[in-house]
Amino acid sequence: MKKTDQSFKSGFVAIIGRPNVGKSTLINQLTGRKISIISHKPQTTRNKILGIIHLDNAQIIFLDTPGIFRPRRILDKKMVRTAYGSISDAVLFMTDGDRREEENDRQILDRLKNNTVYLLINKIDKIKKPDLLPMIARYNSFFSFKEIIPISALKGENIAALPQKIKDVLSPGPRYFSEDTITDQPERFIAAEIVREKLLIRTQQEIPHSLTVEIEKTEEVKGVLRMEATIYVESPSQKRIVVGKSGSVLKEVGTKARKELEELFGMKIYLGLWVKVKKDWRQDEKFLSRMGL
Ligand code: GDP
Ligand code: MG
Repeated sequence: MKKTDQSFKSGFVAIIGRPNVGKSTLINQLTGRKISIISHKPQTTRNKILGIIHLDNAQIIFLDTPGIFRPRRILDKKMVRTAYGSISDAVLFMTDGDRREEENDRQILDRLKNNTVYLLINKIDKIKKPDLLPMIARYNSFFSFKEIIPISALKGENIAALPQKIKDVLSPGPRYFSEDTITDQPERFIAAEIVREKLLIRTQQEIPHSLTVEIEKTEEVKGVLRMEATIYVESPSQKRIVVGKSGSVLKEVGTKARKELEELFGMKIYLGLWVKVKKDWRQDEKFLSRMGL
């Protein structure tokens, strides 16, 4: 991947809300032509990428976090923990005017305290005007939202300004997806970026931009996503740094990347890391195009 462009922002935004609250409607509404819907294999245990919005100099990736409401079985509880774990950059918490659900919402919100959370009160076309302000006051009393926005996902009310608001709270990040090419395997790109990020953090200034990561293979076997990643460096001395003493650096990077990926994808992951020296890979056109650079 290219050197991170500090002016480009990207991030993952979880859309959370009980079934029927209007999440899919919102995504469809945001879609217009700006969003590319990513089709995923149906996999209920897994966080789904709902769609991507491309803005000027920014990219927002919306995640559905299934199973966050009313976990019944142990497995569901585990999924819920994963869903909470996956919430990284911002959360759109959706609710509607149903007062019976407020206590339930409060319990979920209790666990989102360390996140930037927008409250979207959906279906304002149906909510009685005098009910809205007291409702906002109640939600405000139990959670500190970044902002509370009454919307109608169905009618498209108060939706247009949302992407820009989200963009404002995102940090600089990579362009995970190109605007035109939509991959059916976004995991690969995301995984490569995450491994690369962990490597750069761990090796600090030692290996600035002379490494790149390729995810060679992803395969789901019995509920475990197996990924094989190759880290390309330019010299044997760089390889020694990346591998570390008795493999210590590689091991640490692998563990950190794996944990983050497990949270993001909501499933168990096996991550195999390999390091190869490829002199002058940055000059190798064929190699670069294979890497999508
Ligand atoms: P999800 O389960 O959270 O994805 O909810 P959906 O997007 O499938 O919406 C559930 C139902 O609520 C559908 O019948 C939608 O048409 C309806 N709905 C969604 N947004 C609105 C809205 O703003 N106003 C009204 N009146 N209905 C809405
Ligand atoms: Mg839905």
